[in-house]
Amino acid sequence: MNVFEYQARSLLARYGMPIPAGDVATTPEEARQVAVVLTDGPFVVKSQILAGGRGKGRFLNGFVGGVRLCSDANQVEEVARAMLGGVLVTRQTGPEGRRVDRVLVAKAPRILRELYLAILIDRECRCPVVMGSARGGVDIEEVAREDPEAIHRIRVDPQMGLWPYQARELGLRMGLRGPLLLQAADAIARLYHFFCDCDASLAEINPLAVVEDGKLAVIDAKVSFDENGLFRHPEIARYRTEVIEDGREAEATKAGLNYVGLSGDIGCMVNGAGLAMATMDILHRYGGTPANFLDVGGGADQDQVTKGFGILMKDPRVRAIFVHIFGGILRCDVIARGIVDAVSQVMPKVPIVVRLQGTNLEEGRAILRRSGMSIRTADDLADAAQMAVAAAKEPR
Ligand code: ADP
Ligand code: MG
Repeated sequence: MNVFEYQARSLLARYGMPIPAGDVATTPEEARQVAVVLTDGPFVVKSQILAGGRGKGRFLNGFVGGVRLCSDANQVEEVARAMLGGVLVTRQTGPEGRRVDRVLVAKAPRILRELYLAILIDRECRCPVVMGSARGGVDIEEVAREDPEAIHRIRVDPQMGLWPYQARELGLRMGLRGPLLLQAADAIARLYHFFCDCDASLAEINPLAVVEDGKLAVIDAKVSFDENGLFRHPEIARYRTEVIEDGREAEATKAGLNYVGLSGDIGCMVNGAGLAMATMDILHRYGGTPANFLDVGGGADQDQVTKGFGILMKDPRVRAIFVHIFGGILRCDVIARGIVDAVSQVMPKVPIVVRLQGTNLEEGRAILRRSGMSIRTADDLADAAQMAVAAAKEPR
């Protein structure tokens, strides 16, 4: 689970990371108030979306930059007004961008150098890896591509933990000496402590900056948590409600469905994550793109199927619906009743393709047939996928 920068900052602050003072705001007036409380500028106003590249981003209405420096509270209010409610497009959001509902207003210390610091789980060496570079900032992806040697990595034995000498060594390779080196080693140790304590899967500080007065400061923070560990961190789990940005996902979460919104045009309803992945793959193979990942699960009831169907039918990007169910515990007749129920409630304007297999297949088919609805069916997966791809391309 990813969290917003302002949430990551408040967690990291508790571990003693050097975080410039600031607070989140949802209105321009609130943003001004945060600046007033921070007293003197300069300030930085930062769009809070779950995607990076904000500094180089651009709003759909033409406003440039998802991160802007401001000299006083008036300007903070003005910039917040331009950002809030706007849609920010960055290289990570896709062309549709993300709506900005919150901004972070923080003190903006003068930056002398931008470094990179991150901890993540390296699946290959099966341990946490601490990464650091003297060349942090908005171009870190290019550095990684063109000069991977400039990004240093230290493996941590999870049983031993991070040794102080490892943190100092990384600090040295990040180009730091003297008091700054000691501060960096301290920050690295604190970040590692946070990472383990909170079951994080990624903690990235980019940039970690050398600022005026010979200090280090966390200028940007991106943190993700392992969802399997969330039950141990109710406080972090509560962030989830603020984090769900996609209206489709919020509704699906309420209905207890496993749903991930995507940007394609074929709405998918599948049972089982593996089958859902395979379904998305085969749609891609035949030139289609899924609008979502939706796993209704093994134990879904008719009501959940109806709700899932409702979410798919309300999604304006969906041009065809593909229902692909293997009837095991969730039987084909139940899914068929769910479909018929949903179709009669939310009149669909898009073609529906259904492939059922498994328990009570005949009964399921009969229910679809008897409904008198124009539901296309296929027995073979390849046929069904091609039907769905073709259906999505039909003029409406
Ligand atoms: P993103 O990574 O989403 O682009 P950042 O928070 O890293 O957002 O900000 C992007 C860039 O904006 C930073 O790399 C830095 O160059 C600049 N920036 C952010 N905060 C400050 C600040 N306090 N002072 C000067 N520049 C800043
Ligand atoms: Mg950044």
